[in-house]
Amino acid sequence: MRQDIKALGSLLLLSREIVIVTHANPDGDAMGSTLALMRYLRNQGKRAYVITPTPYASFLKWLPGDKDVIVYSYQQELAKKKIEICDLVCCLDFNALHRINELGELIEKRDVKKAVIDHHLFPGKFQDVLVSNTKASSTCELIYEVIEQLTGSDAIDEEIANCIYTGILTDTGGFQFSCTTPRVHQIVADLLQKGVKPDIVQNRVFNSFNENRLKLLGHCLSNRMTVYPEYHAAMIYLTKEDWEKFNVKGGDTEGIVNYPLKMQDVYFSCFIIERPDLIKMSFRSKGDFDVNSFAGTNFEGGGHANAAGGKSQDNLEKTIERFEKALPAYKEKLNTVNLG
Ligand code: 5GP
Ligand code: MN
Repeated sequence: MRQDIKALGSLLLLSREIVIVTHANPDGDAMGSTLALMRYLRNQGKRAYVITPTPYASFLKWLPGDKDVIVYSYQQELAKKKIEICDLVCCLDFNALHRINELGELIEKRDVKKAVIDHHLFPGKFQDVLVSNTKASSTCELIYEVIEQLTGSDAIDEEIANCIYTGILTDTGGFQFSCTTPRVHQIVADLLQKGVKPDIVQNRVFNSFNENRLKLLGHCLSNRMTVYPEYHAAMIYLTKEDWEKFNVKGGDTEGIVNYPLKMQDVYFSCFIIERPDLIKMSFRSKGDFDVNSFAGTNFEGGGHANAAGGKSQDNLEKTIERFEKALPAYKEKLNTVNLG
């Protein structure tokens, strides 16, 4: 990775106007990494802008630089202008331009250098420079490595530290997942030295539900969850009517998919949500059950071994049926999961 970071450093040196983009429905890592890089580049005298394909959850609105984010779905003209005049595009926390639809097409057509910084499996092929480590906890961890190698970690101020901390915090599930390495804790120790207050960030990120959101979680667990004991699996679905009843906003459903894994004998969790345009699915697992492969084989998706997503063009009922029909092929694997 050192050579790749060096190549990225050369590209950054040559660039003055840099557009930073991330995936749709950006999560803590997507927003943390893009805003950390934006501030770092601005501190280095560059003009840098973050463009997101869609809006993001309100629990991320406190992040430093939030006011400057250009949301493509609301501000298409401004986003197009920035893409036209930029001399470098940095793509963070995703691996294929088609995943960001129209915005991806605009970027693909634009004849400028492209860099990718990402920790997903199967990094893309469209970029000129790739900084990838599929074992890294988060793209934010990679941003830390980039800054440390290019200018030393003294260039990380309190604002950048808060952004990086947020992405590591959310992508490790609060330092729970197996990607929580000694390096993660070393980096986090340095971020705390730089002024991050973990209690404050954790309250903003994890303890900022409104009443509806907590009731929605209760509804999902009580009325919308099926457990399949013979497959060590569980599934939760959410209908359009549920969206309306609980006044669900983007981000409110974040994390629901993790709850079934709180059961001792459940190793595989699926969350199916009926969105206006399509059915979106989230998958999570414990141990060595590979949901990246499950998502790819069954629901046109991917992600990581323990956290992946996918989609379905069928209606909700048919999608649930397809999910249930897919389970038997994984029975043996799910009955021999190695939890480590
Ligand atoms: P989430 O369930 O939080 O939406 O996504 C979990 C992980 O899977 C994320 O790392 C995300 O990038 C990836 N992911 C989610 N949806 C898709 C999809 O439709 N296709 C692919 N390839 N990856 C996805
Ligand atoms: Mn990530």
